Amino acid sequence: MISLGIESTSHTFGIGICEGRKIIANAKSMYTPERGWGIKPDEARKHHEKAKDEVLEKALQEAGVSLDDIDIVSVAAGPGLPPCLRVGIGLAKSLKKPVIEVNHPVAHIEIGRLLCRCGDPIVLYASGGNTQVIGYASGRYRVFGETQDMAIGNARDVLAREMGLNYPGGPEIDRLASKGRNYIELPYSVKGMDVSFTGILTDAKRKLAKYSREDIAFSFAETTFAMLTEITERAMAHSGRDEVLLTGGVAASPRLQEMLRIMCEERGARFFACPREYSGDNGANIAWTGLLAFGSGQKPAKKPDFRSRWRTDETEIPWRK
Ligand code: AMP
Ligand code: MG
Repeated sequence: MISLGIESTSHTFGIGICEGRKIIANAKSMYTPERGWGIKPDEARKHHEKAKDEVLEKALQEAGVSLDDIDIVSVAAGPGLPPCLRVGIGLAKSLKKPVIEVNHPVAHIEIGRLLCRCGDPIVLYASGGNTQVIGYASGRYRVFGETQDMAIGNARDVLAREMGLNYPGGPEIDRLASKGRNYIELPYSVKGMDVSFTGILTDAKRKLAKYSREDIAFSFAETTFAMLTEITERAMAHSGRDEVLLTGGVAASPRLQEMLRIMCEERGARFFACPREYSGDNGANIAWTGLLAFGSGQKPAKKPDFRSRWRTDETEIPWRK
C-alpha cells in the first residue's frame, strides 16, 4: 500500500511517500522569513501555494511512481497555522483519493519510532511551534509536560533575531553557544512538569546589552536545555520508561542531544535522536502515520478539514493497542 503524505502546518511544505515501512520520497520546500522577521502566516501560505505543484512532482519522481499508484493521501490536519493548513487540505482534496487526517505531533513520534526502532519511549518533541514531553498510555499519546507559553524553537529563533541573525536561528545560536565561556545567570523556569520560556527570553534579550552574544547564547542553551532534560527525566522516572526519543527541529541541537544522552546513561536508559531529515517538519512522517491509522481502521475523512488547535492527546492511537 502506498501513502502520499502532505505537510503544510507551518514553514515547510513537504510531500513524502511511503510504501509500507519504506520511505520512497521526502520532498520539501521551506519558507524563510525576510531578515528580522518571524513566520508571517500569509507569506508562508503564499510560499506553499507556489511550491506545492513542484514539490508534488519532485516527490513522485523521487519515488518513481505516478498519482495512479497512490492508494491513500495522508494530510497533516493540525495543529498549525490556518492559512498554511488550508493549502495542504486543499491539495489533499484535489487528488481525489481517500484522505486520512493526521495529527502533526503524532507523526513526529511515529517516524522517530520507526527509524530509531524504539518501542515505547518518552518523547521530547521540541520544535518551532511545539514543546512537549509525551508518553503513550491507554490508547493515546499523553502530554506529561509542556511549555506554558512559547515553544523552545521559537524562543531560540527570537533570540537569534534579536542578535541580528537570520531565520532559522537555531543553528546560529548553537554555533555562538559553542564559543561561549561564561555562564550568565538566567531564570530557570520549571513548574512541575511544565516549562516556560518567555521570562528567560526577556532576560536574555536585556542582558545582550551587557554581555557577549556568545555568552548569552551559551547560557540560554545551558539553561533551557537543562529545563527540558529535567522534565524528560521526571517523566521517565514516574512512568518507568527506559527509552527517550528526541524529535522536532530542535532535535538537531548537539548540546540538547548531549544533555539527554548523559541523563539517559546515568539512568541506564537508551537515548535516540530522530535523524535530521525526518526530525523537522516533513511529509514522510505524515505518509507513514496515515498508513498506521488507515491500517488500524481509521476511516477516510468525508469532508477533509483542518483543526488548528488539534492537541496530541486528543488523537486516538489504535495501532498501539
Ligand atoms: P520544526 O518546527 O520542527 O521544523 O523546527 C523548527 C525549529 O528548529 C526552529 O526553531 C529552528 O531554529 C530549529 N532548527 C532547524 N534546524 C536546526 C539545526 N540544524 N540545529 C538546531 N536547530 C535547528
Ligand atoms: Mg513540527
